[in-house]
Amino acid sequence: MTEQERRFDGIPADLLEALRRLARTSELTVALDFDGVLAPLVDRPSEARSRPESEQAIRELVALKATKVALVSGRALESLRTVSGSPENVLLIGSHGAEYDLGDGRVGAAMTAEERRALSELEHAVLGVVSRHPDVRVEQKPTGYALHTRGLPHDVAQQAQRDASRSIGNAVPGVTSRAGKDVLEFSVVRSTKGDAMQRLRLHTAATSMLYAGDDVTDEDAFAALEPGDVAVKVGQGSSVAPFRVRSTEDVSQMLRLLAGARRNHLLGVAASARVARASSVGFGGE
Ligand SMILES: [Mg+2]
Repeated sequence: MTEQERRFDGIPADLLEALRRLARTSELTVALDFDGVLAPLVDRPSEARSRPESEQAIRELVALKATKVALVSGRALESLRTVSGSPENVLLIGSHGAEYDLGDGRVGAAMTAEERRALSELEHAVLGVVSRHPDVRVEQKPTGYALHTRGLPHDVAQQAQRDASRSIGNAVPGVTSRAGKDVLEFSVVRSTKGDAMQRLRLHTAATSMLYAGDDVTDEDAFAALEPGDVAVKVGQGSSVAPFRVRSTEDVSQMLRLLAGARRNHLLGVAASARVARASSVGFGGE
């Protein structure tokens, strides 16, 4: 095995080829889920942190011309900002697309009066669930609540989730719910990571995008991708994404590879522009 093969042994050959092709696009946007993709999953969401190798590769990517990086998470924007360390020049999308910080000064979630009313009904219903299932951890989000059951015995988690679905569904008509890994989320605003990807594409004017995600809610983002984009499922589970890596370690390899390929491509573009300038000077002397 060569040194190069060892460094990228978590990347399947077809993905390697797709990444090299992606690196040659004119405006690149790299969008990444946070938990389970950059950060290994942990019992306490507040303790999740990116793998340092992925963090470093993201710093390299955002320093390049015509290259943007966005984190697209189910976390509330503030929570995403805290755990990600809010890396400079990285765009942040929270609450599955209900909250944005795209560096243009417009931050936060906009809710209608009806949605605000639904949010207070939802709060009441969530308090009811927690009084019956005190081991469930509640995360408040700007447009809803997430009920975390990670680390609880399977039957306790199941009972709590069933109770939550039934009681909250009855109490708050129109509430949307989505199940993730050991989490059940309720929101009064309809938004998906697919909406987030569409908005991101418009904002960055990307000619091609990469999206990597590990959970069921990431399927909306994969489905919103277009020909020439690259969708990467991280870990087990069925997916519409054509590419797959096994772990957050493999994500680090993938991002390092992409950063290197992108840098080399841009250096090549800059060098050929210099050659073109030099030859036009050489021939333009009359
Ligand atoms: Mg995730």
